Amino acid sequence: MTCFERRQFSPVEDCSGAGLYLHVPFCSSICPYCDFAVLKGDRERRKHFVETLIDEIGLYEGFGERFDTIYFGGGTPSLLSGEELERILGTLRRYLDVHDDPWVSLEANPEDVNVDSLASWRRLGVKTLTLGVQSFDDTELSFLGRAHDAKTARRAVEEALAAGFHTVSLDLIYGLPDQSTSMWRRQLDTAIQLAPDHLSCYQLTVHEKTVFGVRRRRGELVELADEPQAELFFETHARLAETGYEGYEVSNFARRPVNRSRHNRKYWDHTPCLGLGPSAHSFDGRARWWNERKERSWSRRVGDGDRPVAGREELSSLELAWEHLMLGLRTAEGVDLDEIRQRYGVDLWQGNGDVIEKQVEASRLELEGRRLVPTLAGMAVADSLALAFEVPGQVSDR
Ligand code: SF4
Repeated sequence: MTCFERRQFSPVEDCSGAGLYLHVPFCSSICPYCDFAVLKGDRERRKHFVETLIDEIGLYEGFGERFDTIYFGGGTPSLLSGEELERILGTLRRYLDVHDDPWVSLEANPEDVNVDSLASWRRLGVKTLTLGVQSFDDTELSFLGRAHDAKTARRAVEEALAAGFHTVSLDLIYGLPDQSTSMWRRQLDTAIQLAPDHLSCYQLTVHEKTVFGVRRRRGELVELADEPQAELFFETHARLAETGYEGYEVSNFARRPVNRSRHNRKYWDHTPCLGLGPSAHSFDGRARWWNERKERSWSRRVGDGDRPVAGREELSSLELAWEHLMLGLRTAEGVDLDEIRQRYGVDLWQGNGDVIEKQVEASRLELEGRRLVPTLAGMAVADSLALAFEVPGQVSDR
């Protein structure tokens, strides 16, 4: 957590503790672009999943972190009933050291939003509700294989905003094949008119092992070229900035600093997180580990009384420094190389004077004291910007 953010939040809202992520793998239908660990599951299978998740939480009893954010992601967590979510939250409190008033976030699909579900999520203490809207256009929604239509999306946003959550966030996707700037602008303008507290706008990515990946191989799907993609990126940031949404990360926009994602921030600044459920990833400050991806394998391992971990990697100080740089250059705050030196004992000033100077001259980076801050042009190419850096030898180990 940076000093900048500490000025914005009261200590309780600071959320500088560890994060909990719960992966709920079920979806009513599988979208053709999705590469998450998801499956269709009936009521019985979901009930079995909840029992297994509760058992998995018990396997982490006494885990040595204090958690202040809880994020229900997936998949579609809104497919679980209020009672099931309540049992999961109760079990987290029973076995783990959870803040008295944690920041609870829940992802929901528009078709699951109604007066009753909203009331039950509010009762559970959900503070950030993220709606998987993706588009307000029926043709685009059908191309994306979504189960809702534009009318349902609008209604869900309006009802969620009226329900009194601290933050209502919308996910949108842009960069669909043949999508023009004006077509995307219409989506953005509809979202802006509805006035959510937060927006996440993601570029469509086609992954190999998805239905879209297969269609691309067959030549049936042609992705939008880099140039129009970049145009849509700049349009997104320009339009949202002029309507009062701060682009605090490549894909994330907040109406006020308090609406920024507290949980995702932990991934960006290497705060420890524990991930539970199939495919969930965890990080303890030095090592990363991940769960069995397939729900049946995950469930079998938990049934055997094992933590269902499928793999683990220890990260060297150089790797941590490198990740910190890469993630920091995706945020509007940028990255403090002195902080990297203090945390990981890696001096990125060393050997990178020319790289920094060149990027400043090209207007991709600005220097604010010892902090490297990407311009919008820099954020547009954040990953390659980080790749331009040499990672020199360590000056000391932590
Ligand atoms: S609703 Fe989300 S998680 Fe589920 S299949 Fe579609 S993109 Fe994937």
